[in-house]
Amino acid sequence: MTLKLFNSLTRQIETFQPVHEGEARVYTCGPTVYNYPHIGNMRAYVFADVLGRTLSWKGYDLTHIINITDVGHLTDDGDAGEDKMEKMAAEKAQSIWDIAAHYTQAFKDDVQALNIRQPAKWSVATDYIADMIAFVQAMPEKHLYEIDSGLYFDTSTVADYGRLARAVTEEGEGRIETVEGKRNAADFAIWRKTPAGEKRQMEWDSPWGKGAPGWHLECSVMGEKLLGFPFDIHTGGIDHREIHHPNEIAQNQAFCGCGSLDEATHSGSRIWMHNNFLIERSGKMSKSSGEFLRLQLLIDKGYHPLAYRMMCLQAHYRSELEFSWDGLEAALTRLKRIVMGVEKLSLGELLPKQEPAATGLLLSQELANHRKFAPVLETFEAAMADDLNTAVALTALEDILSMKKVDAALKGEAVTYMDTVLGLDLLNITRQDLRIRPKTATITEAEIEDALTRRKAARADKDFATSDALRDELAAKGVEVMDGDPIGWEWKLS
Ligand code: AMP
Ligand code: ZN
Repeated sequence: MTLKLFNSLTRQIETFQPVHEGEARVYTCGPTVYNYPHIGNMRAYVFADVLGRTLSWKGYDLTHIINITDVGHLTDDGDAGEDKMEKMAAEKAQSIWDIAAHYTQAFKDDVQALNIRQPAKWSVATDYIADMIAFVQAMPEKHLYEIDSGLYFDTSTVADYGRLARAVTEEGEGRIETVEGKRNAADFAIWRKTPAGEKRQMEWDSPWGKGAPGWHLECSVMGEKLLGFPFDIHTGGIDHREIHHPNEIAQNQAFCGCGSLDEATHSGSRIWMHNNFLIERSGKMSKSSGEFLRLQLLIDKGYHPLAYRMMCLQAHYRSELEFSWDGLEAALTRLKRIVMGVEKLSLGELLPKQEPAATGLLLSQELANHRKFAPVLETFEAAMADDLNTAVALTALEDILSMKKVDAALKGEAVTYMDTVLGLDLLNITRQDLRIRPKTATITEAEIEDALTRRKAARADKDFATSDALRDELAAKGVEVMDGDPIGWEWKLS
């Protein structure tokens, strides 16, 4: 089944055809490490991970790069404002390098918690300053001009500037800020000069004076350097479709020295893909709000991080997804059911441990031709090949788990196969792992289990007075006993 993906540049579903036979080279815009990522940011990496896993599963040798932006991203994407890193460092009275190290680690912790695979490389922007200067020097001069604040890119010098963004503008979301001295409103800084008499924490010598690179330049350079132009797929959140990626494309066109925007090659990447936003109505996603939605906040409230991954998978990546605690609870319940179904198979005894997402994982002949399994596996494959329809793929996984009178080992093989793509860590995770104590809980798990054991004994003895008393005691401590819970959960902290 050929893999079909939506290309934001052509606004069409296209068949994936690798630039280099048998390979897939993917670049994902990484986080700006001035603060903790919010869970919306992490949706972008869950999406990129599912894409990467799907490419591996389809047998492509994947090289996935995710960068770390530790310089150059301004408070306004359009080129105005301060460097986010400098601003946070000043606010916290810490060095930028310490800020970057702390939030890079926090991001990587979230990556691991969400079972997002490590990329081939985390490329750190400040490691590529010399390459950035060389990249700019390779551009014909007509594309560039200097003003007091820095070296700028003249967007009128490339054909079809903003083609990628046009889709957004048509939807009425276009937004471009102006900076004094720019020739065109959309022009952007390639190199931001340090103002005379000032010293920035992060600055480098360049042919255009001391300063720092522009954010868009960083991604063009790391993509070209690490993957070569053109590579296969460039990903990011949908906001990047508006300014960051059109500017990257303009630079790539200039670097290639081409007059036209040949989408397949001169934009730098053959396909551009964008995940839609996770939204939250009351503003808890904004990093300027006191308690914004970090993955750790979800965990503190008793939700396993994979419940959030599940929530992402339930929606198509191109659809807006609204966050709610009820929605997260429902995703957790769904994950619990799946995990219980997998536990019942006792895969540890049945299957040799498989590396998740091994390249080109093949199904056994028995499974591929099986009267009951084959149609469901086909549904799964068709869903993933149809622009990563994880929502349908999840229901196929559940269909497999609910099959009756089939061999458990075959079921296990099918689940393993599917989870290489979905990445819910189903071979390792247990029911116990999913039951996380909220940070505010005043009762330990051992105490709960002890009370439940005594309650079970009382009920067995038909001593309902004791049983009810124990139930009330637990309720007073915020533990709800769930008799006859269909997913066998027994208790939850309320
Ligand atoms: P940043 O650290 O701001 O550069 O953002 C990291 C990634 O998160 C980028 O790909 C953004 O496009 C993406 N992003 C930002 N906000 C959201 C959101 N609410 N939902 C999904 N993706 C987002
Ligand atoms: Zn980028």
